[in-house]
Amino acid sequence: MDTSFAPEELAFRDEVRAFIAQEYDEELQGRLASSDPAIFKQAVIEWQKRLYAKGWIAPNWPVEYGGTGWNATQQFIYESERAAAGVRDVVPFGLKMVGPVIYQFGTQEQKDRFLPPVLASDEWWCQGYSEPGAGSDLASLKTKAVLDGDEYVVTGAKIWTTYAQHADWIFCLVRTNSDGKKQQGISFLLIDMKSPGIKVNPIVSIDNHHSLNEVEFNDVRVPVANLIGEQDKGWTYAKSLLAHERTAIAGVADSKRDLDQIRQFAEQEVNGGQSLMSDPLFRARVSDIDIELMALEFTELRVLASVAAGGAPGAESSMLKIKGTELQQAVQALLMEVAAYYQGVLPNELGAEQLGHAFGSKARQAFMYGRAATVYGGSNEVQKNIIAKAVLGL
Ligand SMILES: Cc1cc2nc3c(=O)[nH]c(=O)nc-3n(C[C@H](O)[C@H](O)[C@H](O)COP(=O)(O)OP(=O)(O)OC[C@H]3O[C@@H](n4cnc5c(N)ncnc54)[C@H](O)[C@@H]3O)c2cc1C
Repeated sequence: MDTSFAPEELAFRDEVRAFIAQEYDEELQGRLASSDPAIFKQAVIEWQKRLYAKGWIAPNWPVEYGGTGWNATQQFIYESERAAAGVRDVVPFGLKMVGPVIYQFGTQEQKDRFLPPVLASDEWWCQGYSEPGAGSDLASLKTKAVLDGDEYVVTGAKIWTTYAQHADWIFCLVRTNSDGKKQQGISFLLIDMKSPGIKVNPIVSIDNHHSLNEVEFNDVRVPVANLIGEQDKGWTYAKSLLAHERTAIAGVADSKRDLDQIRQFAEQEVNGGQSLMSDPLFRARVSDIDIELMALEFTELRVLASVAAGGAPGAESSMLKIKGTELQQAVQALLMEVAAYYQGVLPNELGAEQLGHAFGSKARQAFMYGRAATVYGGSNEVQKNIIAKAVLGL
């Protein structure tokens, strides 16, 4: 692939590599891996601030709002280098979700107020879409916002809200009208997490981590100035955000890096006197995933090219989401198998120092949390329905 890059693209690639080598240093990586939530949060903000200082925090934004102006090839190079170096992606809720909604549909005041702190990572956002009875059928949401003077009064609950415990703000879909089609009475509100009446209840997931939450709203007062676009028209803005979210979830570059790591581990792993990698069946499985990743990479490039040319991701984002997450899970399952050659399934307390591979615990956690990838961002079954309708016209 590299040989097809023009000299200025190779120079850009070198610049990305040098920046990562310099700024994503070991000390920072140590703090990013911390199990202390405060240390982790501060380290994420610090890394994002380094990207911001370099002008690289929002490659997907238009230049006038602080984007990089990179073409599709530069975005591809940056993304590939980031993933190859094992650099964590930015937290998506501000930069990849609400930011694009605000610059597309917000007022000038909202752009001035909210976009700069998103870019500078001075405010952390979370996403309040799902509710206990409204996941796949999102338009059934019941969290209510009633107009009272120049404020909305919000009552209800959101669930599966990733990083709500860290967030300064939440963007929420709320019901402002119950007449007519259920999609028509939804509004898009920006809510300060410090507002009286908000309560965050933690949910610990199967990988033993706390990133998920339930967020309760008990008569929370929200200024009308925090309504995006028109009241009752929030469904349009919500859908535009979901397309960006699904494109970001595919994670092709990260899966490629994970597969490379599997190759390395399998070279070292011995199976019947030979390296696991020399087992033709194992090698065939690695190759199958590799080929599918390459095919998906080209689809991703097509989407990137159309977005760089001013378009918005459409139903392709559903394809990317389905294939990308299926491949993530295939890679995670394969890594579990490599780990199993030595480690088997062990309790968390036994680290690599005591028993097994250094990557064993990480493989298990990634496998467990990874089950969620075919669910979040809209389940893969629902994405298939979208493709059936929007692409195949069924
Ligand atoms: C780790 C994680 C993080 C998340 N983070 C956030 C977040 O930050 N903010 C947020 O708002 N939400 C978040 N979510 C919620 C996520 O978007 C929902 O879980 C998802 O949309 C599915 O909804 P549900 O869980 O209610 O499942 P359900 O809608 O109850 O679906 C259950 C099963 O039925 C299937 N199904 C449902 N309807 C259909 C249909 N019409 N056709 C075929 N099959 C169907 C689904 O595919 C699924 O397998 C997160 C979820 C997870 C797991």
